[in-house]
Amino acid sequence: MSEHDLIRIFTEWNLRSFSGELPVPEIRWNSRLKTSAGRFIPDRTRSIIEVATYLCEEPNAEHLIRDTIGHEMIHFWLWERRMPYGHTPEFHRKMEEIGVSRYNSVPRHRPFKYCYACPSCDQKILTRKRIRKAACAKCCNAHNDGEFHSRFQLKLVAVGEQVGQVPSRERVG
Ligand SMILES: [Zn+2]
Ligand SMILES: [Zn+2]
Repeated sequence: MSEHDLIRIFTEWNLRSFSGELPVPEIRWNSRLKTSAGRFIPDRTRSIIEVATYLCEEPNAEHLIRDTIGHEMIHFWLWERRMPYGHTPEFHRKMEEIGVSRYNSVPRHRPFKYCYACPSCDQKILTRKRIRKAACAKCCNAHNDGEFHSRFQLKLVAVGEQVGQVPSRERVG
Protein backbone atom coordinates (compact mmCIF):
# COMPACT_ATOMS: atom_id res chain seq x y z
CA MET A 1 0.00 0.00 0.00
CA SER A 2 1.34 3.39 -0.91
CA GLU A 3 0.87 6.75 0.76
CA HIS A 4 -1.67 7.51 -1.96
CA ASP A 5 -3.81 4.71 -0.58
CA LEU A 6 -3.59 6.25 2.88
CA ILE A 7 -4.81 9.56 1.47
CA ARG A 8 -7.60 7.79 -0.41
CA ILE A 9 -8.75 6.10 2.80
CA PHE A 10 -8.55 9.43 4.64
CA THR A 11 -10.72 11.06 1.98
CA GLU A 12 -13.31 8.30 2.15
CA TRP A 13 -13.58 8.64 5.93
CA ASN A 14 -13.65 12.41 5.67
CA LEU A 15 -16.58 12.47 3.26
CA ARG A 16 -18.53 9.72 4.95
CA SER A 17 -18.04 10.54 8.61
CA PHE A 18 -16.68 14.06 9.02
CA SER A 19 -18.82 15.98 6.49
CA GLY A 20 -15.65 16.48 4.47
CA GLU A 21 -14.64 19.21 6.89
CA LEU A 22 -11.13 18.01 7.76
CA PRO A 23 -8.23 19.53 5.84
CA VAL A 24 -5.90 16.98 4.29
CA PRO A 25 -3.07 16.36 6.75
CA GLU A 26 0.24 14.83 5.94
CA ILE A 27 -0.31 11.06 6.07
CA ARG A 28 2.67 8.79 6.11
CA TRP A 29 3.95 5.37 7.07
CA ASN A 30 6.16 5.07 10.11
CA SER A 31 8.26 1.93 10.33
CA ARG A 32 9.58 2.79 13.80
CA LEU A 33 6.14 2.97 15.35
CA LYS A 34 5.92 -0.13 17.55
CA THR A 35 3.74 0.71 20.52
CA SER A 36 0.66 1.80 18.61
CA ALA A 37 -0.89 1.32 15.22
CA GLY A 38 -1.03 5.01 14.50
CA ARG A 39 -0.27 8.46 15.74
CA PHE A 40 -1.70 11.93 15.40
CA ILE A 41 0.71 14.85 15.57
CA PRO A 42 -1.09 18.19 15.75
CA ASP A 43 0.37 21.16 13.96
CA ARG A 44 -1.01 24.60 13.24
CA THR A 45 0.18 24.53 9.66
CA ARG A 46 -0.36 20.91 8.73
CA SER A 47 -1.10 18.11 11.14
CA ILE A 48 0.35 14.67 10.60
CA ILE A 49 -1.19 11.22 10.76
CA GLU A 50 1.21 8.32 10.90
CA VAL A 51 0.35 4.69 10.31
CA ALA A 52 2.60 1.91 11.60
CA THR A 53 4.16 -0.03 8.76
CA TYR A 54 3.88 -3.32 10.65
CA LEU A 55 0.11 -3.29 10.06
CA CYS A 56 0.88 -4.37 6.49
CA GLU A 57 2.09 -7.70 7.80
CA GLU A 58 -1.20 -8.48 9.52
CA PRO A 59 -3.57 -10.81 7.69
CA ASN A 60 -6.38 -8.23 7.69
CA ALA A 61 -4.07 -5.31 6.92
CA GLU A 62 -6.51 -3.28 4.84
CA HIS A 63 -9.15 -3.31 7.57
CA LEU A 64 -6.66 -2.43 10.31
CA ILE A 65 -5.18 0.41 8.31
CA ARG A 66 -8.65 1.79 7.59
CA ASP A 67 -9.59 1.55 11.24
CA THR A 68 -6.36 3.14 12.41
CA ILE A 69 -6.77 6.10 10.08
CA GLY A 70 -10.36 6.51 11.29
CA HIS A 71 -9.14 6.48 14.88
CA GLU A 72 -6.43 9.08 14.29
CA MET A 73 -8.91 11.22 12.39
CA ILE A 74 -11.08 11.49 15.50
CA HIS A 75 -8.09 12.95 17.37
CA PHE A 76 -7.57 15.30 14.44
CA TRP A 77 -11.27 16.23 14.30
CA LEU A 78 -11.35 17.08 18.03
CA TRP A 79 -8.17 19.09 17.73
CA GLU A 80 -9.54 21.03 14.76
CA ARG A 81 -12.57 21.89 16.91
CA ARG A 82 -10.26 23.08 19.68
CA MET A 83 -11.48 20.40 22.02
CA PRO A 84 -9.36 18.11 24.21
CA TYR A 85 -8.23 15.58 21.67
CA GLY A 86 -7.30 12.58 23.82
CA HIS A 87 -9.49 9.52 24.36
CA THR A 88 -12.25 11.63 25.91
CA PRO A 89 -15.97 10.78 26.20
CA GLU A 90 -16.45 12.85 23.03
CA PHE A 91 -13.81 10.72 21.34
CA HIS A 92 -15.69 7.56 22.32
CA ARG A 93 -19.01 8.95 21.14
CA LYS A 94 -17.53 9.73 17.75
CA MET A 95 -15.87 6.34 17.65
CA GLU A 96 -19.21 4.62 18.06
CA GLU A 97 -20.96 6.96 15.68
CA ILE A 98 -18.62 6.35 12.78
CA GLY A 99 -17.90 2.70 13.52
CA VAL A 100 -14.25 2.74 14.47
CA SER A 101 -13.83 -0.46 16.37
CA ARG A 102 -10.41 -0.39 17.85
CA TYR A 103 -8.21 1.15 20.44
CA ASN A 104 -5.22 1.47 18.32
CA SER A 105 -3.23 -1.37 19.71
CA VAL A 106 -2.41 -4.26 17.48
CA PRO A 107 -0.12 -6.79 19.13
CA ARG A 108 3.06 -6.64 17.15
CA HIS A 109 5.07 -9.27 18.97
CA ARG A 110 4.06 -12.27 16.97
CA PRO A 111 6.36 -15.26 16.96
CA PHE A 112 9.02 -15.54 14.32
CA LYS A 113 8.23 -18.11 11.67
CA TYR A 114 11.45 -18.47 9.75
CA CYS A 115 15.07 -18.74 10.63
CA TYR A 116 17.73 -18.08 8.03
CA ALA A 117 21.46 -18.50 8.34
CA CYS A 118 24.42 -17.11 6.47
CA PRO A 119 26.41 -20.01 4.93
CA SER A 120 29.64 -18.13 5.55
CA CYS A 121 29.49 -16.71 9.09
CA ASP A 122 26.43 -18.60 10.34
CA GLN A 123 24.69 -15.42 11.44
CA LYS A 124 21.04 -16.25 12.18
CA ILE A 125 18.20 -14.04 11.10
CA LEU A 126 14.66 -14.53 12.37
CA THR A 127 11.71 -13.30 10.35
CA ARG A 128 7.94 -13.47 10.24
CA LYS A 129 7.81 -13.50 6.48
CA ARG A 130 9.60 -15.64 4.00
CA ILE A 131 12.66 -14.01 2.45
CA ARG A 132 12.98 -14.70 -1.23
CA LYS A 133 16.53 -13.70 -1.96
CA ALA A 134 18.75 -11.90 0.49
CA ALA A 135 22.34 -12.15 1.56
CA CYS A 136 24.09 -11.63 4.88
CA ALA A 137 24.69 -7.89 5.15
CA LYS A 138 27.71 -8.33 7.40
CA CYS A 139 29.52 -10.61 4.96
CA CYS A 140 28.56 -8.62 1.87
CA ASN A 141 29.92 -5.51 3.55
CA ALA A 142 33.08 -7.23 4.73
CA HIS A 143 33.93 -9.20 1.60
CA ASN A 144 32.05 -7.80 -1.37
CA ASP A 145 31.86 -4.00 -1.03
CA GLY A 146 28.31 -4.26 0.24
CA GLU A 147 27.06 -5.89 -2.98
CA PHE A 148 24.91 -8.99 -3.01
CA HIS A 149 26.85 -12.22 -3.53
CA SER A 150 25.23 -15.64 -3.77
CA ARG A 151 28.04 -17.03 -1.57
CA PHE A 152 26.40 -15.18 1.32
CA GLN A 153 22.83 -15.86 0.34
CA LEU A 154 20.74 -16.65 3.41
CA LYS A 155 19.58 -20.24 3.70
CA LEU A 156 16.37 -21.29 5.38
CA VAL A 157 17.36 -23.44 8.37
CA ALA A 158 14.18 -23.64 10.47
CA VAL A 159 10.46 -23.10 10.04
CA GLY A 160 7.61 -22.69 12.53
CA GLU A 161 8.03 -24.56 15.83
CA GLN A 162 11.70 -25.25 15.22
CA VAL A 163 12.45 -21.54 15.15
CA GLY A 164 11.93 -21.40 18.92
CA GLN A 165 14.72 -23.93 19.32
CA VAL A 166 17.31 -21.86 17.51
CA PRO A 167 20.01 -20.81 20.02
CA SER A 168 19.20 -17.36 21.31
CA ARG A 169 22.21 -15.15 20.71
CA GLU A 170 20.95 -14.47 17.22
CA ARG A 171 20.11 -11.21 15.64
CA VAL A 172 16.51 -10.52 14.91
CA GLY A 173 15.93 -9.04 11.48
ZN1 LIG B 1 -5.86 7.34 20.05
ZN1 LIG C 1 27.54 -13.78 6.99
